[in-house]
Amino acid sequence: MAYDSGNIFAKILRGEIPSVKVYEDEHALAFMDVMPQADGHTLVIPKENAETIFDLSPEGAAHLIQLTQKIARAVKAGMAAEGITLMQFNGAAAGQTVPHIHFHILPRWEGVALRRHGGGMENADKLKGFADRIQAALG
Ligand code: 5GP
Repeated sequence: MAYDSGNIFAKILRGEIPSVKVYEDEHALAFMDVMPQADGHTLVIPKENAETIFDLSPEGAAHLIQLTQKIARAVKAGMAAEGITLMQFNGAAAGQTVPHIHFHILPRWEGVALRRHGGGMENADKLKGFADRIQAALG
């Protein structure tokens, strides 16, 4: 299927709608999920127009997973998480709601369940506070 350049993450990449950014380079962006399933829930997306993992170039895929590893390390340290869950959905049938490939980075603590996917919007100041902690851990 053709890439839909009107999707919400494409708009974030073009700066048409705001996001709480954690990291950006030439190829990718990491930012806070506005409906977090855990405190510190971070998304990593490529700048390449790709709906699913199958649409990414090999170079884009390599950069995306390397950056996901780097950001996940900072999320774990910055949020003092005991573990990290990574999630990545391809296609509506798999649970993908935004048609631009992304990795979810979810900090985990013993006994703390994930909140509902697509649940409530988080307060922007709280998201900024988590982003600051993750950025500090990135150095
Ligand atoms: P998916 O279901 O496609 O794997 O995940 C999409 C994610 O994007 C969800 O976790 C949802 O909370 C998040 N999301 C949806 N709209 C926005 C938005 O406008 N800004 C941000 N930062 N996250 C969004």
